Order: sequence, then structure tokens, then C-alpha cells
Amino acid sequence: MIVSAVFPSRYIQGREALQEMKHHLAALGGSAMLVVDPGIAEWMMPRTIKAIAGAVELEFFDFAGEPEENEMRRLAAAVAARGCDMVIGIGGGKAIDTAKGGVHFCGTATLVVVPTIVASDAPCSKNAVVYAADHSVMGSLHGRANPALVVVDTQIIAAAPSRFLSSGVADGLATWFEARSSIAAGRCNFTGYRATCTARAIARQCYDTLISQGPTALLHCDIGLASPALEEVVEATTLMSTIGFESGGLAAAHGFHQGLSEWQETCELLHGEKVAFGLLASLFLINESKDVIDETFEFFRAMRLPLTFSDLGVENPTDDKLRIAVRRMMKPGECTFNEPLEYEEYDYLSAMQAADQYGRALRTGSVSLSPRG
Ligand SMILES: [Zn+2]
Repeated sequence: MIVSAVFPSRYIQGREALQEMKHHLAALGGSAMLVVDPGIAEWMMPRTIKAIAGAVELEFFDFAGEPEENEMRRLAAAVAARGCDMVIGIGGGKAIDTAKGGVHFCGTATLVVVPTIVASDAPCSKNAVVYAADHSVMGSLHGRANPALVVVDTQIIAAAPSRFLSSGVADGLATWFEARSSIAAGRCNFTGYRATCTARAIARQCYDTLISQGPTALLHCDIGLASPALEEVVEATTLMSTIGFESGGLAAAHGFHQGLSEWQETCELLHGEKVAFGLLASLFLINESKDVIDETFEFFRAMRLPLTFSDLGVENPTDDKLRIAVRRMMKPGECTFNEPLEYEEYDYLSAMQAADQYGRALRTGSVSLSPRG
């Protein structure tokens, strides 16, 4: 049996970490193409230019703002035409995904990622979401390599709205459950081989860190504080979770996410917010213990994450509507099937209803949680 794991080559994190970036760029070459999300370019661009001045020659991509395949190919052409050694993606998911796509289609440059929010565990991974020109999801791009450098300035992360951190924490918490399932089912990870013990151990550490520090970090994020708790949670959501999911494997929680994404009402929700409800549903699917279910609901409530259909913006969905989500998550090849046991349409449908019912009972106080300990 062959096992495999992938990692970003270098990871730098901390308050004012952006100032450290210049010390690590020279090893990657002499010229870089900057790709910045248009919404933050006005304040992030001068900050970055000042931080890395003199370290590399800079080129600027006029990023239109959406990670569409055409945009990725346009970036690749610009990188090739100007002979850039690296692409630096700065911002939320869109600039980073576009940078990943540009590097992938170009084939010669290396990737540097500077997330300004941690709403998912994408920054350290080689995966990107690709959109069509009509803004629908075309599919996933599995890049050639993970980033050569990831720089996470926690002062910037702490200054962003707390909702992003909550979303990233949910995505990170799901990592342990999904890696555990995928490994138990004997499935391949994103490298095409079985998971290493390292991936499993890091996924577990990610879970333990988030459970113990998540709510504290969220309160600190509310006031823009890059505290030790926030530092640990950022590392868990960004670095540990990526290694856990990419080298461990995804399973039903992300399968439910795919299903929930079929509903038009959820299109404004963040990735991790849908994964949160997906994880809750998956706990009922696999018949987890009441202690684990209670702990997860309690944690998500503290993290202000969705516990019910209503929290997702969907009021009393009919069985037909639920079936739309379930049929999407049961498409051949979906990570839904990385659970150790096989399930049927009814099992997925009733797991979502069970999670919603439990969440509603919690909200009204008609169910009590197991005491922790
Ligand atoms: Zn995810």
C-alpha cells in the first residue's frame, strides 16, 4: 500500500507577518505577479508593496474579480509574457483561486498565498474552485503543487469580520470527522494514495485546537485582537485543516455542502457555514454518540454557525426540495461516499431533518445537552 501527503513548502504566521515576507521571496525568484481581490486592493496593495519593496520585481494583474477559467488563463498568459517567477495571490478565496489557476495553466511559476481572511481551509491547498462566466461553479481544479509560501498576517485576519473566522472554524472542525471516515473506509486522499498517519494526527490536533480555543478566538476577533487563542485557531483552520483534508480525505460533511449549495437560498452563505450544517447532518447519518453530537451543536452555537434549515435561510423545506440536495450529493464520485458504510437517499434526507430538528429543539430549550467532561 502506498501512502502520501502534501504540504505547502513554507508557512509563516503571526502579527505583522506580512513584514517577514520579503525574507522568503528571494528563494523563489526575482519577479512576481500580484493578484489582489479588487475589494481590498486599495488598502492591501500599498501595504504589500511597501512590505516587499526591493525583494522582487513586481508586475500587477488587472484582476476582474472572479475565479473564472478564462481569467485564470489570462493570468497564465500574462505571467508567461512577462517571465514572472511567481504569482502572489492576496485576498479571500477569489484572488487565491485565480492565482492557483494561473500557476496551474502557466506551468512555470510558483505560487505564493497571502490570505486576508480564513473563511475556509483553502489557502495552503493546491485545490481551487473554478467558475463559469455565468457565475455557476464549473468544477474543481487540482493544481500541480501546493503553495511554495503561505503568509498569514494575524493582525489582518483579526481585523476582518468574525463571520469569516467562524466559517473557517466549521470547515476545520469537519476535517477530523471526514479524514477519520475516509481513512476508515480505505479511500484515497487528494494525492491519489492512502492517507499517512501524519494526516490523521494533524486532523485530530486541528479538532482539539478548535474545540478548546474556537469560541475564545471568536470573541477576540470581534474586537480585532490577534491573541494567542486566535493565533492557534488561525493555524488550525489554515494549516492543520488543509493537511488534514487534502492528505486525509473529505467525506459526508462536504457531500452535504454540495447538496445544500443546490438551493438558491444558500448562495450568499460562506463555504464553512454550509459545511457546518453538513457536519451536523453527517453526525446523525453515521449515528454518532449523543456526547459528540451535543458537543458539536454547543460548539457551533458558540461559534454563531447554522444549526437549522432556518439558519441557512430555508424555511420548512419539503421532501422534494430535500431530494434536490440529496441527489446532488449522491452524484457519482462525490466525497459523500467516503464514509465507511453505504447509505441510501432516505438516510441522507432524514439525517438533514434530524439535524434541523435537534437544532430547533436546542434553540427553544426543549432538549438539554450532555454535561461536558
Ligand atoms: Zn471545505
